[in-house]
Amino acid sequence: MKIGRALRSDGAAVWAALGQDGTTLAYDPATGTSGAELSITRLLPPCRPSKIVCLGLNYRDHAQEMGLAIPDEPILFLKPPSSIIGHGDAIVYPDQSHRVDYEAELAVVMARRCRMVSPDEASGCILGYTCLNDVTARDLQAKDGQWTRAKSFDTFAPVGPWIETAIADPHDLDIRLLVNGEVRQSSNTRHLIFSIPEIVSYIAGIMTLEPGDVIATGTPSGIGPLNRGDVVRVEIQDIGVLENRVV
Ligand code: MG
Repeated sequence: MKIGRALRSDGAAVWAALGQDGTTLAYDPATGTSGAELSITRLLPPCRPSKIVCLGLNYRDHAQEMGLAIPDEPILFLKPPSSIIGHGDAIVYPDQSHRVDYEAELAVVMARRCRMVSPDEASGCILGYTCLNDVTARDLQAKDGQWTRAKSFDTFAPVGPWIETAIADPHDLDIRLLVNGEVRQSSNTRHLIFSIPEIVSYIAGIMTLEPGDVIATGTPSGIGPLNRGDVVRVEIQDIGVLENRVV
């Protein structure tokens, strides 16, 4: 099932599910069931995380293009919840940067509080999967030597459009990124260095993961710049298409 959040036409932010015929349905997260058709103004980001935990360097092809060794352990950083936008929202190019990059990523959304779990237990803590664009001010990443400013601008975490809760194997999904209709990244999640249960277990050994928290699993090769006016699109097989314009 594809679930998320939407702005109802009366102005309320509510849970929603995508119907078979493309309509938007009411959704009750307590029971996991969908109901009557909803009249919505627009989609919202599909979850409200307390944090977005991101992996640097988790595809073999991306490590090679950056000239970096394959890491022994996941490399983690955070994006703030204030950076989240939804499908169709604008990515704002900040004045402080002259090189803003896209990074297509498979994102994990947590179902429940999770701490100190084994990789086997970690799988049971996952609600589903969605698309994420880890927008990055590449010049500031290099200049600062650490990544907080480069990764944290408002609008630098497009997420959505929906959370797919029925992915049998998240390690065999085609992932692509297009800018103005041109393919810039094209890979498959089978090339992840660390598997998703390993990643969740590793992070939950450091910090408590809360329901709705997002884990961005890293980007494949082909990273590159965005310009104002571009339309950037993350496509992940069986999950969906996340599209945003840069302004
Ligand atoms: Mg990234």
